[in-house]
Amino acid sequence: MSKIIAVNAGSSSLKFKLYDMPSETLICSGMADRIGQVKGTFTLSIGQEKLSIDIPIPNHQSGVSLLLKYLIEKKVILSFQEIKGVGHRVVQGGKYFFKSVIITDKVIEKIKEFIPLAPLHNGPNLSGIEAFKTILPNVKNVAVFDTAFHQTMEPQDYLFPIPYELYEKYDLRRYGFHGTSHKYLMEQVHKHLNTIKNPRIITLHLGSGASLAAIKNGKVVATSMGLTPLGGIMMGTRTGDIDPSVLHFAALKTGQSHEAIYEMFNKKSGFLGMSQLSSDSRDLEAAHLQGNKQVQLTNQLFVRRIADFIGQYTIRLGGVDVIVFSAGIGENSGFYRHLIIEEIKDALSMIEDEKLNKSIRGKVAVITTPQSRVIGMVIPTNEELMIVKDTYEIIQ
Ligand code: ADP
Repeated sequence: MSKIIAVNAGSSSLKFKLYDMPSETLICSGMADRIGQVKGTFTLSIGQEKLSIDIPIPNHQSGVSLLLKYLIEKKVILSFQEIKGVGHRVVQGGKYFFKSVIITDKVIEKIKEFIPLAPLHNGPNLSGIEAFKTILPNVKNVAVFDTAFHQTMEPQDYLFPIPYELYEKYDLRRYGFHGTSHKYLMEQVHKHLNTIKNPRIITLHLGSGASLAAIKNGKVVATSMGLTPLGGIMMGTRTGDIDPSVLHFAALKTGQSHEAIYEMFNKKSGFLGMSQLSSDSRDLEAAHLQGNKQVQLTNQLFVRRIADFIGQYTIRLGGVDVIVFSAGIGENSGFYRHLIIEEIKDALSMIEDEKLNKSIRGKVAVITTPQSRVIGMVIPTNEELMIVKDTYEIIQ
């Protein structure tokens, strides 16, 4: 038996889940939040027991120290020796990493090299890695890349039609993200629908960040996010794909810098910018049902973008057998799932089981009728489990 930690380090937070492997049992989870701010919070959930402590957490290393302190104090582990590996989510692996790897000095150099391609993510991911390396120097660390599963795309799918030297010199291309989630969803489809041979799958990871992937023969053929997680469909605060000249004209008209507009595309657009109300789909669902016209338009825009990608991907896959709904919105909201299916049902002969769809929250279920040509499925994603599985396998 080995205890493995899955870590997702952001700029001001470090989320973790501790698993027992190979049984895949979740032992505890939690997070060090508001790292580097005056007031920090450390939370830990062990089964029904929940711990929340307000304490300053100056950096990622102190977050990791807190985690280990409480694992011992709460007798989750008796000694650090029980921890056999730590798996780290690393957002950008460039075109270099197509699978998870043990973290060596060379791997750290590479992750550093990719910081310009993912400045909001790779830097904080590295802080998490450094923290565990310092505090648990004898434990193996593994990097699990968001981009790895998408590395099977063909050049026609990952290249942008810009001067080719920009790709050659700077690696400017589509990478795609949420790869660990899309891979997990594919594996679950294979497991639950094992009577369909080589299903053509479109996975919808619809969280505050959102992306789609088209998968055939176990491989990604296309995915919606691009060079960064700004690309693809509309999201909580991000635009998704738009005409690039919007950047130029918005800067020209508002007098704001390109950097400010770029930040607006990342942080003030999507649900938030369109609805002028909220980036949270729960608020938009409620306002939509109360008849808020702006919010209804926002939701129509959101589902239209998704339907357009499903159309594209159906062509790319030569047809589609299964459409998977996942992440915060996809797992929990029958309302959004219904709106999406309404947009695509005629073209795909997809028949929703409306009553069932409405009732499904956070569990695996088929939400289409037996007569439906395309199967609609809800699958809760589990990126952390994928991280610990890869870590366990690699450190053996
Ligand atoms: P991320 O990991 O990208 O922050 P999540 O997968 O947690 O995103 O999804 C966040 C989104 O999911 C938010 O828009 C939120 O409103 C929505 N969401 C989360 N839980 C629910 C729920 N129970 N019902 C409806 N929507 C939900």
